[in-house]
Amino acid sequence: MIPIDIIDLQFKNLDHAIAAYLIPTTDGPILIETGPHSTFPVLKQAIEAKGFRLEDIKHVLLTHIHLDHAGAAWAFAETGAKIYVHPFGARNIEDPNRLMASARQIYQDQMDSLWGEMKPIAKSQLVEVDHDEMLQFGDTQIKSLHTPGHAKHHIAWQLGDNIFTGDVAGVKIGNGPVQPPCPPPDINIEDWIDSIAIISRQKPKRLYLTHFSYIENPEEHLGTLHKVLMSWSEFIHDKWKEGLTNEQIIPLFQTYTTNQLKAAGLSQVEIDQYEAANPTWMSVAGLVRYWTKKSQQA
Ligand SMILES: [Zn+2]
Repeated sequence: MIPIDIIDLQFKNLDHAIAAYLIPTTDGPILIETGPHSTFPVLKQAIEAKGFRLEDIKHVLLTHIHLDHAGAAWAFAETGAKIYVHPFGARNIEDPNRLMASARQIYQDQMDSLWGEMKPIAKSQLVEVDHDEMLQFGDTQIKSLHTPGHAKHHIAWQLGDNIFTGDVAGVKIGNGPVQPPCPPPDINIEDWIDSIAIISRQKPKRLYLTHFSYIENPEEHLGTLHKVLMSWSEFIHDKWKEGLTNEQIIPLFQTYTTNQLKAAGLSQVEIDQYEAANPTWMSVAGLVRYWTKKSQQA
């Protein structure tokens, strides 16, 4: 079995909110996800604790370029790593100004403590990967699965029976229930359902979620995710249809999701971990945007 190291980035000083995965190969260790730059010191320390230097990492595979997954990628590019990303995400990571400006509007003075910096990545360090490409790293092969729905440029990375699912297989922390993170601007329910089917068709034995760790019952997990995605989407649809604003929907949706977590027996600390990995207001914004776009297209 391939030894996959799960690195807990201790985002917001919480356990099990954001992971990065380190995989040894004969071409040096590869990294899947980097987390945000704010947790880079934790990541660096974990890599060094395994006996590696940052420069030993020549390949960093990103599932997508959201800050909690890719925010520290530039730091690895600076020490010589190639950064692998879907073509639809390449431009915004090469020049992250737009990405950072829209994040700064949202997070304002919390931007630095939450996410840290995101610097440009030289084009020569970027490798664009489309659907169903087989990448070879020494003795290790990894296949790309373009899996939009959460983000247009989302890739899940398959290594044998394991799939690193980024956000497309949802968020599940500890024994809690699976949730679909639905941030703006790309949420597309139809694409997401198709992507769940793509992952399911590979018949994986384990899914490695960025939020957080692996699960060993992929079929059941993906089936539940499908159902929860539909019910969240319908909940927001109904409120949006009634004419409520995001600000009015957020507390209603917060109660709805918190009750689900409480019903699953979660403690307040665990509910906080979910909120850190998958903020409620973000999913409201993403799903309202989805329904608004859809009504404009109709
Ligand atoms: Zn994401």
